[in-house]
Amino acid sequence: MRIPLQSATHAWWFAAGRLLGTIVAGLIVGALLGSIWGGLAIALAVHLTWQLVVLFRVEWWVRHRSFAVPPEIGGVWGEIISQIVRLHRRKRFHKQRFVQLVRQLQSSTAALPNGVVILNPQREIVWFNRMAGRLLDLRRAGDLGLRIENLLREPEFNRYLRLQDYANPVVIRRASRDDCYLALQIVPYGDGQQLLLVEDVSRQMRLEAVRRDFVANASHELRSPLTVISGYLETLSQDPALDRDLAGPVAEMRRQAERMTAIIHDLLELSRLEQTGEPVGGEPVDVAALLALLRKDVLARPVHPREVRERIDSDAALIGIESEIHSAFSNLVDNAAKYTPVEGSIEMRWWVDEDGGHFSVTDTGIGIPSEHIPRLTERFYRVDPGRSRATGGSGLGLAIVKHVLQRHGAELEVRSATAKGSTFTCHFPPQRVHVARAATAV
Ligand code: ADP
Repeated sequence: MRIPLQSATHAWWFAAGRLLGTIVAGLIVGALLGSIWGGLAIALAVHLTWQLVVLFRVEWWVRHRSFAVPPEIGGVWGEIISQIVRLHRRKRFHKQRFVQLVRQLQSSTAALPNGVVILNPQREIVWFNRMAGRLLDLRRAGDLGLRIENLLREPEFNRYLRLQDYANPVVIRRASRDDCYLALQIVPYGDGQQLLLVEDVSRQMRLEAVRRDFVANASHELRSPLTVISGYLETLSQDPALDRDLAGPVAEMRRQAERMTAIIHDLLELSRLEQTGEPVGGEPVDVAALLALLRKDVLARPVHPREVRERIDSDAALIGIESEIHSAFSNLVDNAAKYTPVEGSIEMRWWVDEDGGHFSVTDTGIGIPSEHIPRLTERFYRVDPGRSRATGGSGLGLAIVKHVLQRHGAELEVRSATAKGSTFTCHFPPQRVHVARAATAV
C-alpha cells in the first residue's frame, strides 16, 4: 500500500486547523444550546475520543506490522505511519544485504582448501570453517567456546603457543590419525583475537621422508664399493712397480675417492640428524677439552694457519650430545683452517653470559662476500665452487652445523669481510649451560 507523502508542516497545519474547527463547532453548538462551556467540552471529548481511536489503530498496526497493512489515516498520524514504513523498508534492505554478505563469507571460507579457526583472547574457539572441523575433528555443537589447547594436546603445538613465536607454522603429527601431519600457524589480529590457520601437509611430509630415505639408502649402498675402490687405489699408489705415468692419475683418483667418501659420510650424518627435528637432551660436554682436541686436529693438517689459539672464558660445560657438538664445532674449525692461508690465524672462543653459552671461531682468511652469507647453510652451497672442491670440502659442513644447532635450540651467527676473515658464532640458550656445582661452591 502506498502511503500518501505529505510534508510534515502541512500535516501539523492540518491538525491545528482540525482542532480549531472542533473548538469553533463546539462553541457554536454550545451557544445554540445555551451552554458554551458544555458545547466546548463535548467537542473536545469527541476530538479526544477520535485521537484515541486513531492511536489504538496505529499501535495495533505497529505490533502486527509484519502482516497488517498500514491504516489509512491523514494528518500527523499519517505522517508518522509513513516514516515508520520508510524506516522499516530501509532496515529490511540493510538486513538482507548483511545476511547476503555473511552467506557469501561463509561459503567462501567453506570453499577454502585450508582450515581457519577464530580464537578469542583466551584462545577459546569462536568460529571455524568446514575444513578446520574436518582436519582438527572439531564439532560445531560441542567444541565452540572450548580452549584450543584442550582440544589439540600435541606437545609441539603447546610449545608453539608457550613460546608465542608465530612467524612460522608448527608441524604436528595427529596422534588420532595415521600419517596425518598438519601445519598450524597463529595469526594475531584485532584486539587480542587470533586466527589459527590449518594446512594438511601429510603429502609433503611423505615426499620429504621418501627423499630422506632415498639419500640415506643411496649413501649407505655407495659406501661399501667406495671403501673397496679407495683400498685398491691406496695399495696401487704404494706399489713400487706402478708405471710412473700412472702415478699422477692414480693419486688424483685417490683424492677424488676420498672426497666422495667425505661427501657420503656427511650425507649419512645429515640424514641421521634429520630423522627427528625435535630438540635433544644430552650430557654436559667439556668444551675446554673439546677445543684442545680440535686445535690438535688443525695442527695435524699437512697445511694449516700458523697460529691456532683457544680462549676459554668459562669453565661451564655445554649440555648436548657430545658427538653432534664435536661434529658441528669441528666443521667450523675445519672451514677456518681450510679457508685461511698459512700466515693467518684462527681463534676458538667459549664464553658464557646471561644470554647463554657462546662458541666462536674467528679466522683471518679469505672471508665471504655478504650476499652469500644467508645461503651458506644450504646443502652443497659454495661461495667459490672451484676453491671449495680443491680444499676437499663436501659442501655439507655448514648444513650439518645448522641441523646440530637446531636440535640444541641454538643459532648460528656469521660475520665476514672479504679478504679480512670470518667469525662463525654458535649461540646456545642458558638452559644448555651447565655450571659445575663444585665451581659455584668455591
Ligand atoms: P665446504 O665443505 O665446501 O667447506 P661448508 O658447508 O662447510 O662446505 O661451507 C660452505 C661454503 O661456505 C664453503 O664452500 C665456503 O665457500 C664458505 N665458507 C665456510 N666457512 C668459511 C670460512 N671460514 N671462510 C671462508 N669461506 C667459508
